[in-house]
This record gives sequence, structure tokens and C-alpha cells, in this order.
Amino acid sequence: MRISVVTLFPEMFDAIADHGITGRALNEGLLSLETVNPRDFTEDRHRTVDDRPYGGGPGMVMKVAPLAQALTAARRAVAGQGEAVPRVVYLSPQGKPFNHDRAVALSRESALVLLAGRYEGIDERLLEQEVDEELSIGDYVLSGGELAAMVVVDALVRFLPGALGHEQSAAEDSFANGLLDCPHYTRPEVFAGHRVPEVLLSGDHERVRRWRLAQSLARTLSRRPDLLEGRQLSDEQEQLLAE
Ligand code: SAM
Repeated sequence: MRISVVTLFPEMFDAIADHGITGRALNEGLLSLETVNPRDFTEDRHRTVDDRPYGGGPGMVMKVAPLAQALTAARRAVAGQGEAVPRVVYLSPQGKPFNHDRAVALSRESALVLLAGRYEGIDERLLEQEVDEELSIGDYVLSGGELAAMVVVDALVRFLPGALGHEQSAAEDSFANGLLDCPHYTRPEVFAGHRVPEVLLSGDHERVRRWRLAQSLARTLSRRPDLLEGRQLSDEQEQLLAE
């Protein structure tokens, strides 16, 4: 998958390029991640990318022209021959909530352009003309779209085939099957008087599987009952919930 991010702070993306699963996906060529800086498309000596808002008020607004050119460059950087034009996603507190399903869907795109805003936001005309989708990572306002873009990249990389090691599987994580994940334990068996649940030491794979499923169901019911609303449970899941 090829991702290009339009950002005034390209160096922030070193955080995911150099570490963890995203870093490994980049090293192994499962992902390419580049950045395009709108400042490189300015013509004045101050490399101005923002201006005062029409109508007055506090803060500055990102100008259309440098962003439009940066987006063209970003699309070109990730476009594949014979493929559809890459989707442009603007990270915005006003976007649809970014979630598991959206991460899975975006991971199936061959190329993607992410647009990170700054200041009070971006001139609306750019958004109307150039953006396919707006995504929010939560109901709060960040000072820039870079962290949100990194959240999106990190979440969708987990669904790229081969990105997770054999020992890990996105299919068992929270939300993958509509439930929260079960609790996990590792050595020692006893810590500060608290024992690992006996079933996990039993070696009985079927008992472990049922225990994990029961834990997932109970957690989901107590922490995120909304995930179970309108959901058809299997006979086994109904039985485990009732126990
Ligand atoms: N004035 C805007 C508003 O109230 O809707 C907020 C602008 S914010 C200070 C600057 C940039 O941060 C936005 O253009 C957007 O790219 C990014 N941003 C802020 N909060 C975000 C969120 N919850 N999800 C995704 N991006 C966000």
C-alpha cells in the first residue's frame, strides 16, 4: 500500500516510520509512506501557507493554492498505473468517526492521500473540491491533523497481509469480531498474590477457547454494551453469556 501525507510537519512521521509494526511494514515494503509539504508550493519568500480569515476572527486559515498543488503532487506520488485516482482523506474533528470498519476498508486501497490541517483549519473551497472523505479520531480538537493521520496509518497497517507477525492476529483483537478482546497474562504465575486464571495453565485448548470467548462477551457487555446491540449471537455465545 502507498500512502502520501500532505503536512506542514513531515518530520513528525518519523515516529511511525522508525518504530514498531509500521516501521517493519515500511522496511519490508508492505507500505510506502511519503510526505508532501505545502510550503514547497509557495512562491513568496516567507513560504506562506496561511492567511487571515475572511469575516475576521481569531486564528489563521490554510490557503487553497499551496494545498491544491501539494495534493496534486501527493496523488501523483502514490498513483499506480491503471489504478483509480487515490482517495483523499482529510483528518478533521468534523469528519465521520474513524473506527475498525473504516480501517479495514482503507487498508484495501492500493493508494491513499491523507491531508493534515493546522491553524483554524483549511479554506473550505479546497475541501469541497479535493477531498473525498473526512475522518475524525475523536470528539476533541487536536492542534493538527498529523497525529490523527498517524493513528489512521497505524490502525490500517495492521490489516495489511503480512504486517503482523505469526504470533499476532488482527482477527483476534478488539472489534474484529464485534467484541472486545479477552484479558491476557504472561509469566510469572503469581504476581503480588494474584494468580493467573487456572484455565490458562490447563493445556486444555477447548477450555481456554471457551474461557476467552466468555471473557470477551462479559467485557463487551459491561464496557461496551453498544457493540452487542442488534447483534445476532451464536448459540454458544448466548450460552456463555447466560452462565
Ligand atoms: N477549527 C477547527 C474545528 O473546530 O473544527 C479545528 C482546527 S484544528 C485546531 C487543526 C487541524 O487539526 C484540523 O484542520 C484537523 O486536520 C486536525 N484535527 C483536529 N482535531 C481532529 C480530530 N479530532 N480528528 C482528526 N483531525 C483533527
